[in-house]
Amino acid sequence: MSSNKKELQQLLEDMGRSGPESLHSEHKDWLVCNECGQVQYVVALEADHALMCFNCGAELSQSQSRWFETVIALAFAALALFIISMFFPILTLEIGTQSQSVTIVDGFWALFQRNNFILAALILATLVLFPLFEICALLYLVLPYYFNRRLRGQATVLRWFNQAQSWSMLEIFLLSMVVGSIKMADMAHLELEVGSYALFLLVAILILANLKLSRMKFWAWINTNNYFTTEVGEEVLDCTSCNALVGRSIVESGGLCPRCGSEVHERIPHSLEKTTALTLAAAILYIPANILPIMTYTSLGEVSTDTIFSGVVSLIANDLWGIAIIVFVASIVVPILKLVILTYLIVAVKWRIRVGARHRAWLYRLTEFIGRWSMVDVFVVTIFVALVQFGFIYTVEAEGAIIAFGAVVVITMVAAETFDPRLIWDAREQQHGKTINR
Ligand SMILES: [Zn+2]
Ligand SMILES: [Zn+2]
Repeated sequence: MSSNKKELQQLLEDMGRSGPESLHSEHKDWLVCNECGQVQYVVALEADHALMCFNCGAELSQSQSRWFETVIALAFAALALFIISMFFPILTLEIGTQSQSVTIVDGFWALFQRNNFILAALILATLVLFPLFEICALLYLVLPYYFNRRLRGQATVLRWFNQAQSWSMLEIFLLSMVVGSIKMADMAHLELEVGSYALFLLVAILILANLKLSRMKFWAWINTNNYFTTEVGEEVLDCTSCNALVGRSIVESGGLCPRCGSEVHERIPHSLEKTTALTLAAAILYIPANILPIMTYTSLGEVSTDTIFSGVVSLIANDLWGIAIIVFVASIVVPILKLVILTYLIVAVKWRIRVGARHRAWLYRLTEFIGRWSMVDVFVVTIFVALVQFGFIYTVEAEGAIIAFGAVVVITMVAAETFDPRLIWDAREQQHGKTINR
């Protein structure tokens, strides 16, 4: 125990803080579900099994055999593929005798040059910075794990890694490439370049690495103790980032989670107010996003524009039903569905509705999962703007609605993140802190 205490003190000092004098820490085979607040006993998992919350069905942990060797290999492969997919062309478009090739970085640059800074920043963050961070973080976490060397800041990196996941959107860009290519196919000759193959492999590898990474084992490696109190038998709150159980006295004296350094809250402060405000803002922005044009096409002096909806209609007119359905679902159905679900969740919490909590928990997870896919249209516009620049023959420019639409996607994603899913279950019980006696 004393060596554990020393390690913990070291960890706290690394984070630039000193722990409370009377801090008591130990390991308990109990955890509180992050999504519903239910206390449960953790059983040892067989390899390749997942542990689910018996109350709300959320995945608590999974057990993978030989996971870190696999993740190390995948992370190195991902780094190499990332460099290729960023700096080598992904697509080449030929119109007559002219041809134009683009890289992902060109997409960012094309928007930047047109003073479309918001969209350029969104592209840079979601397609370059977050994926790069994801890969570097993986290497920083699993390489030292392999050699059993704890490094400074690993807890922080793992915390950010989990946060950054939903903002790394390469797989959505891949779908946009498919949509964009099919839209362009009738007007010009389009070729896939080496960057697009690298991107495809990179996406597959990152998905696999994420499935393999065992976060719970990793937290246990950083610090085996997951139960921190300063008074005997006091109530504990759950850390939503590492699943540690943190004594109420520590939380109330403003202390952070002793294991991962994140703030611990009974419930996310002002969760409902924040989610309500963001949902409302997104609903308002959804109107200009659909009314205003998203793209202007100029061909041989003739100018035409597309709104999100007219884009879908013209796909149907060209008999491209598959792509029309993808764009319709991603750009029209998903944003509306998200706004409706968020409103329903907020209203159910406000009115303390008890029935259907499990169903609402599922809707909440659905919202978190599908929200990002609306970015498809934003990426399609970016591809068009970067690729279709043939002067008088054919030019495409982005229009105002795409900024409004991008904002709707980002704001609804943040709205889902600020919503505390434990509120869904609170109509059932009042007491948020838990006492664990075993
Ligand atoms: Zn649960
Ligand atoms: Zn924690």
